[in-house]
Order: sequence, then structure tokens, then C-alpha cells
Amino acid sequence: MEGSVALVTGGSRGIGRAICAELARQGAAVAVNFAGNSQAAEETAALCRQLGAQAEVFQADVSGPEACEALVQAVIDRFGRLDILVNNAGITRDGLLMTAKEEDFDRVLDTNLKGAYFCMKAAAKRMMRQRYGRIINLSSVVGLRGNPGQTGYAASKAGILGVTKAAAKELAARSITVNAVAPGFIDTDMTAVLPEKAKQAMLTSIPMGKPGQPEDVARAVAFFAGPDSGYVTGQVLCIDGGMAV
Ligand code: NAP
Repeated sequence: MEGSVALVTGGSRGIGRAICAELARQGAAVAVNFAGNSQAAEETAALCRQLGAQAEVFQADVSGPEACEALVQAVIDRFGRLDILVNNAGITRDGLLMTAKEEDFDRVLDTNLKGAYFCMKAAAKRMMRQRYGRIINLSSVVGLRGNPGQTGYAASKAGILGVTKAAAKELAARSITVNAVAPGFIDTDMTAVLPEKAKQAMLTSIPMGKPGQPEDVARAVAFFAGPDSGYVTGQVLCIDGGMAV
């Protein structure tokens, strides 16, 4: 991975921060994207620099196509190329099917699915020219198995699996791999806000009996981003302590 340039969307916190750090540790220059939390993004970039990598922060709300195109261009303007794209930015807006609001459904789909789709589109254009690329998309066990109260989130994460597999087939001939990871229950801000009862219910469904850490996901992402996975594309790897088995 030495000499590669990586863009991690939602790199400011949680799983995204751990991915930035792991890619930095393995020698990539890192573009840390964030939506609103510039202080957290600067902390991630500082962490990457401590690990010996070049790192810069890039503000962009990935829920719009123009912003995704501008983000990818800004990274290339700064670093000269783009080898690795990690579509990690994501949100939840939980609510039961009967009461959930259309605007929440749209916001989740726009950020989690269309955000990844438009960043892939922008990155793939450049990667096709350089005939090399690694794209890794964050799905979820919820996208594979469903979860009550998360119809919109489940749709976005199931959609990620579809775009991953279709793009993998489209881009394979140019040596661009597209893979997904599907985390289960990981200790981050996203899960910290869940009610205690929901957390306990999740924990009892994990054969390993404990939540995962952001670093568990980061190491799997780094495998798909690095040289050892060159003949692997269109795959989904669950990082979930056995939850989806
Ligand atoms: P998190 O702690 O809530 O962090 C979310 C990150 O996404 C932040 O860096 C945030 O930026 C960024 N973000 C949100 N909306 C954005 C937008 N419109 N444009 C750009 N960036 C945006 O979440 P996490 O738990 O680390 O989750 C990371 C990914 O893993 C998500 O795709 C999530 O769905 C997936 N995942 C998580 C779990 C879990 O258990 N935690 C399980 C399965 C899948 P700011 O800091 O600027 O707000």
C-alpha cells in the first residue's frame, strides 16, 4: 500500500477514523472526509501523520453528486492520484415502518447509498484511466438480515451490496476491485445512542458475546485496499463476531 492515496468518507470518527489510521499505518496517504465535525477530522489527520503518513481533511456532504465529484477532484488536486476509495460515511434515522417519515428515508438513502454510488462514479472515472483501483463499501449485517425499526437503513445497506457486485463486474477488466464489508455491532457514536435494552438484545445475538471495535473493521478494509486481495472482487465480508451466521 506504500505510495497509494486513499480517500475515506466519514473519516472523522468511529470506524472511518480507524480505517484512516490503519491505511496510514500501512503506508497510504490519507484524505479524511467529514461532513460537519472538523475538529474530529483534524484529530484523525493528526493521528495519521503521527503514524508517518501524509494526511489532509476534506469537508464534503456526500449526499449530493456534485459534492462527491468535487471531493474526488480536490483529493486528486492535492495528492495527484486516487488509488483507494472507502465509502464509509453513514447515518441512521430509525423508526418503525408505520410511522417513519419519508424525509428520514430519503436522507438515509441519499447519504448511505447515493453518497457511495456518486463517490464510486467519480473515483472510477479516474481509476479506469490509471488502470488500477480499490473500492471498499461499508454495508452492514442489517443489509443482509434486516432489523426492526431500520427499514430505510436496511434498504441503503442492501443497496450497497448490489452496487458493489455490479460495479465489481464492470470495473474488473481495468484491475479495479470493488468489495464490501458488513460490520455487525461495533462500538462507535452510532451505536452509543441506542437504548440499553436494544444494546443488550444485540449483544445476545452475537455468538462472541461482545461488540466489535472499529479496528476490527479497519483491518478487513485494509485487506481489500492492499496488494494481497488483487484477485478478490465483488465480495462481502462480515465483521460481526458471528452475528450473521
Ligand atoms: P459514526 O461514528 O456515526 O460516524 C459517522 C461518520 O460519517 C462521521 O465521520 C460523519 O462525519 C460521517 N458522515 C455522516 N454523514 C455524512 C455525510 N453526509 N457526508 C460525509 N460524511 C458524513 O458511524 P460509524 O459507526 O463509525 O459507522 C461508519 C459506517 O459503518 C457507516 O456507514 C455505518 O452505517 C457502518 N456500520 C456501522 C456499524 C456499527 O455498529 N457502528 C455497523 C454496521 C455498519 P462528521 O463527523 O462530520 O459528522
